[in-house]
Amino acid sequence: MDNYIEIIEKQREFYKKNETKKISFRKEQLKKLKTILKNNEKQLYAAIYEDFKKSEIETYITEQAFLYKNIDLYLKKVSKWSRRKRVPTNLINFPAKSYIQAEPRGVCLIIGAWNYPYLLTLDPAIAALAAGNTVILKPSEIAKNTSAIIAELINKNFPPEVFCAIEGGVPETTALLKQKFDKIFFTGSASVGKIVYEAAAKNLTPATLELGGKSPAIVFKDTNIDKTAKRIVWGKFLNAGQTCIAPDYVLVHESIYSDFLQALKKYIIKFDYAFENKNYVQIINEKNYNRLKKFIEEKNVFFGGETNAEARFINPTILTDLDFSHPVMQEEIFGPILPVLKFNDLNEIIEKIKSGQKPLACYVFTKSKKNQNKILQEISFGGGMINDTIMHISNPNLPFGGVGNSGIGSYHGKNGFITFSHYKSIMSKPFCGEPPIKYSPYSKNKKKILKQIFK
Ligand code: NAD
Repeated sequence: MDNYIEIIEKQREFYKKNETKKISFRKEQLKKLKTILKNNEKQLYAAIYEDFKKSEIETYITEQAFLYKNIDLYLKKVSKWSRRKRVPTNLINFPAKSYIQAEPRGVCLIIGAWNYPYLLTLDPAIAALAAGNTVILKPSEIAKNTSAIIAELINKNFPPEVFCAIEGGVPETTALLKQKFDKIFFTGSASVGKIVYEAAAKNLTPATLELGGKSPAIVFKDTNIDKTAKRIVWGKFLNAGQTCIAPDYVLVHESIYSDFLQALKKYIIKFDYAFENKNYVQIINEKNYNRLKKFIEEKNVFFGGETNAEARFINPTILTDLDFSHPVMQEEIFGPILPVLKFNDLNEIIEKIKSGQKPLACYVFTKSKKNQNKILQEISFGGGMINDTIMHISNPNLPFGGVGNSGIGSYHGKNGFITFSHYKSIMSKPFCGEPPIKYSPYSKNKKKILKQIFK
């Protein structure tokens, strides 16, 4: 960390040489990253298992596979996305050509979260490199083994002036944020997002903030109860609920409440959550374990509730008999605890959701188009699904990001490229064939023609 100012300077100098603007150079970095990830899969899996018992299969499905796919996507599309795009020119500018030219931002800082430590650091880095930037990556210190392996692999294989990882926690990130970057990309909590945004504002640096929030799942009485429960259980307890877009809580129509609870229970049992069979992960640290444990009071436990401090283990837990005033409903849960609340008046719960911060995700389970559209039209949220959870994140054609307190900006697929690019608007004119209309002296005739043009 001592030499971070020197590294930023090196990146700035290197960026000025225009090497990163070459498509061949960008592709070379992406291919190298893919090779590094492939060749070191074993160490990467071991590090994440050490951090919070996340298994190889789950890491592959939720992180590595996406990274490989995204690298392939960028390799295929980077030339096309970098090309200038012609747009029509309006009559007043005749004769001229107009086009939009993507250019890299420059030196980018990417700050990652710990919960999907490979995906949330390397995915934006792939987009940034593909868009022709240099990158300084700060993985989360909370997942210390993954942070160490990311830093080791990047710093051993990439020149620091192109791509460098700097490890550290709050002091190191605070120091980094005092420097000037051309783009900051942050994934984490809304409270730290505000600190990052403030630091970015001091240098007028554009910032993308990928934050969290309380994402509801709304279950209508006309749903398929069994499939709904199955999909909510999977989305909630994946990564032991430590997923930014996990359904935070469920609102179920009162007429199907008990049947739905039974179905949730059935799938929690069926999915057989335990570290030993690679179907579950630990709570990341003692602080979060203690924070989560406080939410579990016997009187509210419908199912689960067992905890083990030494193993930092919390069984998938369903809480009932509570309302919006309960402490578990006051903050993002980010753990394997699922409050299930009843509703009978849709407008009432829409108002309730709207009175809080805008969620990162929202999930609607209903066969009725009318109900689906009502939720989509009336509630503002980052993104979501109809009749499933989480999987919208896996479609690179959907921009991924929050709104309001759940984030600013988005990425994934082409959107990642856009996020790390500036789009220059260019109009190109020949020296010949210019109508004299805009030049003085202004005559009545010119005025008449101009009025016609602007009509
Ligand atoms: P966090 O905000 O505590 O930490 C994120 C990063 O910020 C880490 O790299 C950390 O070192 C750094 N940081 C922490 N405190 C800081 C400070 N005072 N000054 C400067 N930097 C600081 O978040 P977390 O615990 O890693 O992740 C959990 C949160 O992230 C949840 O709210 C979750 O919903 C959200 N999240 C969002 C997404 C998304 O894509 N939208 C993805 C994962 C997690």
